[in-house]
Amino acid sequence: MTTRRNFLKGCLAGGAVAAAAVAPEAASARETHQRPPEALGLLYDATLCVGCKACVAACKQANNNPAEFSTVDKLWDTPLDTSGYTFNLIKMYRHGTSETKDAEENGYAFMKTSCMHCADPSCVSACPVSAMTKDPQTGVVGYDPDACIGCRYCVAACPFGIPKYQYDSPTGKIGKCELCRHRTKDGHYSACAEVCPTGATLYGKTSDLLAEAKRRVALKPGTWTRYPRGRIDGPDQSYEGQVGNYLQHVYGETEYGGTQVLKLSAVDFEKVGMPKLPPNSSAATSETIQHTLYGGMIMPIAVLGALAFVAKRNVAPGEDDKGGE
Ligand code: SF4
Ligand code: SF4
Ligand code: SF4
Repeated sequence: MTTRRNFLKGCLAGGAVAAAAVAPEAASARETHQRPPEALGLLYDATLCVGCKACVAACKQANNNPAEFSTVDKLWDTPLDTSGYTFNLIKMYRHGTSETKDAEENGYAFMKTSCMHCADPSCVSACPVSAMTKDPQTGVVGYDPDACIGCRYCVAACPFGIPKYQYDSPTGKIGKCELCRHRTKDGHYSACAEVCPTGATLYGKTSDLLAEAKRRVALKPGTWTRYPRGRIDGPDQSYEGQVGNYLQHVYGETEYGGTQVLKLSAVDFEKVGMPKLPPNSSAATSETIQHTLYGGMIMPIAVLGALAFVAKRNVAPGEDDKGGE
């Protein structure tokens, strides 16, 4: 007769045997997913940014987000960081006397903080209920509040610290940039790019934006060139501007497997708040581990074994023996 004790023993032994049998196969990582060919995104050029924050205000308006105050007078929107209600922020780097724009020494520089729309987003990978999804055509990473269970795995998974939880929301929502996908049906595009007076934030296909970014970094600092504004494939709103002292690096071209939002800067990216990341997404690594474990049934059996151990330990002495060995 199968007693509870025998069952528990069997679970523990089975878990150990199965884990030992399948563990050696836990090896080959899946490839990091690439951006879809029609991927949409933004190019943020910090050398063109004047810190006017029109993009921050436009983002608030486009997403119907309330103002957030960090001053006692509460006169206007002054968020100190992105939040569940602030999806876009312009941050400032300062050094020494802060005299010269885009200089690391005694200078200052701006940097936009918003979702990077990763090619292989770990927020999507981490979400257990597919509330975070990546559009197969545009690559835009969207969020479905109706599907969200408020677990905040996406918050923990994002290497850029982007998804933020609306702690005061009774329904527990996440807030983050969705590249203004709700505005395209009316012929609009990202509000931040639409209002940017200098073209520092430019909207379009990531492949076009990457080509434009590479064109810029190849130019000699101080020469004159045309800078598009708004959307890269839209009506000509370009103007003549002087080329900045670009780093020879398009941030997002390869970081984390590539992102659909790209950035240019004259000041070291880490100093302006962009993390140094490997050329592959951790979504690929974590999914490989998960799929290997679940694929080999190690995890369920091991978990069952562990649960069985806890249950066995908690059984009152003598209770388990009622049915005999
Ligand atoms: S609107 Fe353009 S120039 Fe103004 S802060 Fe935003 S990115 Fe910079
Ligand atoms: S930046 Fe963060 S929130 Fe945005 S797609 Fe990448 S992992 Fe997701
Ligand atoms: S694309 Fe839209 S939601 Fe995203 S930062 Fe720009 S304005 Fe905000």
